[in-house]
Amino acid sequence: MKECHQVTEIGSCTDKNKAGPECLQCEEGCSKSRPPGCPHPCVLPCHPGECPPCVQMLRIKCHCKITSLYVECRKMTTADINEKNLLSCCKNQCPKELPCGHRCKEMCHPGECPFNCNQKVKLRCPCKRIKKELQCNKVRENQISIECDTTCKEMKRKASEIKEAEAKAALEEEKRRQQAELEAFENRLKGRRKKNKKRDEVAVELTLWQKYKYYLLPACAVVVVVFAWYIAHGVD
Ligand SMILES: [Zn+2]
Ligand SMILES: [Zn+2]
Ligand SMILES: [Zn+2]
Ligand SMILES: [Zn+2]
Ligand SMILES: [Zn+2]
Ligand SMILES: [Zn+2]
Ligand SMILES: [Zn+2]
Repeated sequence: MKECHQVTEIGSCTDKNKAGPECLQCEEGCSKSRPPGCPHPCVLPCHPGECPPCVQMLRIKCHCKITSLYVECRKMTTADINEKNLLSCCKNQCPKELPCGHRCKEMCHPGECPFNCNQKVKLRCPCKRIKKELQCNKVRENQISIECDTTCKEMKRKASEIKEAEAKAALEEEKRRQQAELEAFENRLKGRRKKNKKRDEVAVELTLWQKYKYYLLPACAVVVVVFAWYIAHGVD
């Protein structure tokens, strides 16, 4: 409620919040608009003139969204776009991956990653003999690939020659082995044939005895009888 009263000018009065010594102190809060971006209320009650700069801390995410940063509110609200970007930088390397597969080399930054990857990539020729280090973006732009040179071709030829020789040697070794096996088999076969011959002879002998035993038996008996008679009569 406002009371109408006499107001004396304040000359050198230090209390600037009063229009005159008769005035009551206004007890409302400050209703001045806050600087854009400041979510805090003014720390003073209703006052004339400018609000004091806001010294509260703002919690913000950095550009790469990994780190939380605390910035003095007045710094953020008075900064231009470049200063704001600087204040929102966590000073770490950007964690994003570039389309080439390398990690972004820039420090925490706003917006898209600049894609001019100058990291080194190792290229090799198809046979892996020639090695070259090139800049990633140059390799991508020019579709660079390394071809085999004459030394590569010479080495490839030699390698294939060695392989061929090895294959040939293996083949010959296999042939020799088979030959040896064959010979061993034949020898065994010959040995068996010899044994069979002996058995045949025995059989022949047997059949001879069997064939003539009817003639030989009486002959033997006669010999025995004659021998016995000779012993009996020949002594005296
Ligand atoms: Zn007031
Ligand atoms: Zn503030
Ligand atoms: Zn204020
Ligand atoms: Zn960051
Ligand atoms: Zn790259
Ligand atoms: Zn980046
Ligand atoms: Zn090569």
